Amino acid sequence: MLSKREAFFKNEPPTAKFDPTTRDKLDHKMDKEKENGHPETSGKAPKELDGYVGFANLPNQVYRKSVKRGFEFTLMVVGQSGLGKSTLINTLFLTDLYSADYPGPSYRIKKTVQVETTQVLLKEGGVQLRLTVVDTPGFGDAVDNSNCWQPVTDYIDSKYEEYLNAESRVNRKTMPDNRVHCCLYFITPSGHGLKPLDVEFMKRLHDKVNIIPMIAKADTMTPDECREFKKTILNEIAQHKIKIYEFPECDDEEENKLQKKLKDRVPFAVVGSNTLVSVGGKTVRARQYPWGIVEVENLEHNDFLALRNMLVRTHLHDLKDVTNNVHYENYRYNKLASVATKGKEKAVGSKELNLETAEDEDSGEKYYSVFFSLHKYGI
Ligand code: GDP
Repeated sequence: MLSKREAFFKNEPPTAKFDPTTRDKLDHKMDKEKENGHPETSGKAPKELDGYVGFANLPNQVYRKSVKRGFEFTLMVVGQSGLGKSTLINTLFLTDLYSADYPGPSYRIKKTVQVETTQVLLKEGGVQLRLTVVDTPGFGDAVDNSNCWQPVTDYIDSKYEEYLNAESRVNRKTMPDNRVHCCLYFITPSGHGLKPLDVEFMKRLHDKVNIIPMIAKADTMTPDECREFKKTILNEIAQHKIKIYEFPECDDEEENKLQKKLKDRVPFAVVGSNTLVSVGGKTVRARQYPWGIVEVENLEHNDFLALRNMLVRTHLHDLKDVTNNVHYENYRYNKLASVATKGKEKAVGSKELNLETAEDEDSGEKYYSVFFSLHKYGI
C-alpha cells in the first residue's frame, strides 16, 4: 500500500523536477541495505567481531561533535496580528522572547507586511539551540491583502540564495544555515473554514517551506466545534491540493502508535499563555477564566503539547532534512536550470556552469550534477 506521503505526491506531482518521494525511496533503500548488511556484501549476515575494535563508539563521536557545535533552527510564524503568535513562541520555548520591554512584532510594526527576525540562544541539558524566529507583522491586516505573501516568499528565497552562494564558495567550512525550516500558519478560530487568503498563502508557499497549520486561540471554541472546524480545514486543504508538512513514519512500532495519536491532531488547535497559575499545588502555564482554567500543557484542553513534541522533540531534524532535501533542492534545481537554459556555455558571473544529467543504474532515477568551474580562483 502506498504511504500517505507517496500517495500525496502521486496525485499531484510537484512542479519542480526534484522528486520528494526519493527521500522515501532512499530511506527504503537504506533500510534494505541495513537488513542485508553492506551493499557490496548484501545477502551475507553482518559479522560479529571477537574483540573490541572501537567503531561502536562512532555514535558517541557524532553526539559529542553535534553537542559541541550546537543546533540551529529557524521557525517562521505567519498569521494576522492578535492571533497569539508571540505568546505561543514564548510558551513553546519557555522563554520570554517577547516581553514588556521587547513586545511582539505586531505591537511594534504596523501597516505593511514586514519580515522580522529575532534570534535567541537556548540551552537545555548542555545542548545549545540557536533559534531564529521569523515573524511577519502586518500579514493579512490590510483592507487589500493581495500579494501580502510576497515579502514572505522573498525572505524564504533570499535565505536559499544565501545558502546556495555559500555552497559555491571556496571556503565552505562555516556555512550558517538560516533557511526557514518550518512555518507555523495561524488560522483564525472562526469555525467557518479557511479564508481565501489562507488558501492563497499556503498554495504559494507549500513548495518552498514545511507548513504546519494551526488553529489559534483554541480556548474560544468548544471541543465539538473544534473537532468540526479541524475536519472542515483538512477537507479544504485536500480540496485545494495544499501540501502541508507530512510527519514521516518512524521505525519503532510502539513509537508509531504513540505518534499517530499526536499526528491525528493536525491542524494543531493551540492555546498560549505567559501567565503562571497554581493548579493542584503545581505551577503551570495557563489561562484563567471566571468559569475555569485552561492549562496549556494539557492534551485534554488543547494540542499545544502535541505540537511541541512533534516540532522540537521528535521532528526537528526531519523538518531540517525536508527543507534541505526537498524545498532547497527544488529551489537549487530551478535556479541552476534557469541559468543553464540561457546557455550551457555562457559564463555565470565568475563561474561557468555545466548541468549534466546522469542515470542511476539501480533505480533508473535521473540525477542532476552541477559542476562549477571557479575560474576566478583559478580552480
Ligand atoms: P500576535 O499579534 O499574533 O503576536 O498576538 P499576541 O501574542 O500579541 O496576542 C494577542 C492577544 O491575544 C494578547 O492579549 C494575548 O494575551 C492573547 N492571547 C494569546 N494567546 C491566546 C490564546 O491562546 N487564547 C486566548 N483566548 N487569547 C490569547
